[in-house]
Parts: sequence; structure tokens; C-alpha cells
Amino acid sequence: MLTPDQTDQLRAHLEAELSRLVAAATSALDFTMDRDRDRIGRDSMDDATEEELYSTKLRLHDRESRLVGKIRAAMKRLADGAIDECEECAEPIGFKRLMARPVTTLCFECKSAREQVEAEESNE
Ligand SMILES: [Zn+2]
Repeated sequence: MLTPDQTDQLRAHLEAELSRLVAAATSALDFTMDRDRDRIGRDSMDDATEEELYSTKLRLHDRESRLVGKIRAAMKRLADGAIDECEECAEPIGFKRLMARPVTTLCFECKSAREQVEAEESNE
């Protein structure tokens, strides 16, 4: 089990990652919007909600979009007190491993085993 202090550290870590991604996403979106605005006119862009802007951008950047999803899922597991539980063997995931890879859902042993299977499959 994580201590309350470790939980706070992980939450801060996840929130920092999320703001970094959203900031990068927003600057990419501004560029796209500036071009679109000339083409389709200003009014329709002003009507767009923030949520729509994010989803527009998230379609543009699959990699970031997947990461944001993983971070949100990790935050939910953190809130549920389940972030340090391996989804495969239900053993606790170490705090150090969580700080290094906060979006992980597997303990080190299960992750290694899975990577080995994937490596063997890709050799075929
Ligand atoms: Zn495991």
C-alpha cells in the first residue's frame, strides 16, 4: 500500500505530466486554428467549446492523445486506491516503479514477462 505522502507525490507527478501534454496540445491547436480561422471565418471558431478544441487537437496527435488517456486512467486508479495493484497478478507495484512510470498497470515481473512474449511473437 502507498502512504498518503506517496499518493500525493504520485498525484502531483501525474498532474504535471497532464498539464505538460495539454500545454503542448494547446500550442499545436493554436497553429491549426489560426489557419482554419482564415478559411471558415472567425465566428464559428469562437462558438467552439474548450472540450471540442481539446478533442480536435487530440485527434491530431494520436500519441499525446493516448498518453492523456493513460494519465487520466492512472489518476482514476490513484483515486480508487488501486494504482499500485498489478492488473495481472494483483501484487503491489513498487512506489519507485510508479514514480518512474506512473501510467504502468503491471508490476515489474509481469511487465518483463509480457515483453518477453511480445519479443518472441515479433520474431515469428
Ligand atoms: Zn504482476
